[in-house]
Amino acid sequence: MSFLFLPKSDGTYDRLPVTPENTRKYIESIPLYRDDDDPLFWSQDRIREMQDQSFKRQMEWVWDGHDYYKRVFAEQGIEPGDIQGLDDLEKLPLTYKKEYMAEPDSFKLKPSEPTLYDWDFEIAYTTGSTTGMPTPFWSTIHDVHGVWQLLFRGIKIGGLPPNARLMNLFPLGPVPHIGFFRARDIGIMGVGFSSSFGATGMTYPEFPVHRSMDYAMDVIENSKAQIWLGIASFMRRLIMKAEAEGRDFSSTLHIQALGEACPQAMREDMKRRLQNMGAEEPFVSNSYGFTEMQGAMPECDDFSGCHDPAPNLYFFEIVDEETGRRLPDGERGLICITHINRRGTVLLRYIVGDLGAITHETCPHCGRNGVRTVIAVGSTYATRTSELVNLKGTLINPEILRDEVANTRGVKEYQIIFTKKDPDDPYSLDELMVKVSPEEGFDMEKLEQEIQTRLITAVEMRPRVEFVPMEEIYDPTVALKAYRVLDMRPRDE
Ligand SMILES: [Zn+2]
Repeated sequence: MSFLFLPKSDGTYDRLPVTPENTRKYIESIPLYRDDDDPLFWSQDRIREMQDQSFKRQMEWVWDGHDYYKRVFAEQGIEPGDIQGLDDLEKLPLTYKKEYMAEPDSFKLKPSEPTLYDWDFEIAYTTGSTTGMPTPFWSTIHDVHGVWQLLFRGIKIGGLPPNARLMNLFPLGPVPHIGFFRARDIGIMGVGFSSSFGATGMTYPEFPVHRSMDYAMDVIENSKAQIWLGIASFMRRLIMKAEAEGRDFSSTLHIQALGEACPQAMREDMKRRLQNMGAEEPFVSNSYGFTEMQGAMPECDDFSGCHDPAPNLYFFEIVDEETGRRLPDGERGLICITHINRRGTVLLRYIVGDLGAITHETCPHCGRNGVRTVIAVGSTYATRTSELVNLKGTLINPEILRDEVANTRGVKEYQIIFTKKDPDDPYSLDELMVKVSPEEGFDMEKLEQEIQTRLITAVEMRPRVEFVPMEEIYDPTVALKAYRVLDMRPRDE
């Protein structure tokens, strides 16, 4: 479970369980939080009214200087008067990643009367696209101020103690990636936070500035880091190595595992290992974020759902994969974001590329209003749409496989592979294979049986289980994160 760290006058804190009442108490105890007019505590109606107003202004900006949408609206006969508020959003077409990636510059606002706040502040790049080419995403000075407020409110949702010691474990990558730089900015926006950096990542021989995982572990130990941010599989591997070396990680309070799903068993595994290194009840959390929102949606408690900290910046919808219609709360579909207060890259009804579900219900854990993602599959919030695969003629969601294998006790690392019975014969039958690196001392035969039983139950397919050393699955010195699902079958052209 998660805690709210209520500061005491002697510089220490009380750990309170997350309840709406304790959340109030926590906020009241920190003047910067108390004095923040946080829309997440407004009524749903008031939030929506504010969003409608913001969206109206955003549409004026779009009509003034957005090349892509002005062209598309003209083609489709959409006039400025057609769009009065967010209820009219369904009149607009969905924007897919491929459209944005084809002409990113056309998505950048070019206001007719720019101010200082319209100057470019930074460019982030979206990654993980099917073409592999990073796409620029521009933020102006205006936008970055909005993102700093998002981060401030995100930290508040996390219930973190003031004056916390932070550890940024995102890699210092070759392309400006949102993870590293937002984790840096959390240091800026926290209440008296101090930050340390692992600075791992792909080396650039010309300027050898990158550092090793051992260095990152030293920093955590020496700085007595309390809050960590990083990519889930990288942090888990670091924890495993540290545990084997008998490191002292007793200061760890809260881990933000980002960048990929972190199912329940993975969280518990990380927590247990941290406890073996002296940490007391550390919270391993899995926020949901992406470049096009410039930050992440944190959980207030274990599996509470991920809160959008910035209803003043974004409007979320879940839309039907086939029809593009908005779906009601709780139903799973495509996650879709509309920017309602941005001056750089502006996206309307943008399909993020994940399947998920949302709710507007008041959060029973912390009492916040506004939108939250809810668990969509197993113990994870979102699943990549591109990962839906046809195996043996059946369409299956690899997230279900991933969740089942990850939640099997005794599995240290795993990889799910879709392959062929005979790899040299593209017409031979599909095969489901699971590579597993087991925990020491686990009965491998039992483990194999359990994985088979779980997958047969989940997707009615018997996998071939192969035991391998963990480096064969994921080598943190080479890859950014672990690839949990691989499709090795030859492609049909
Ligand atoms: Zn909550």
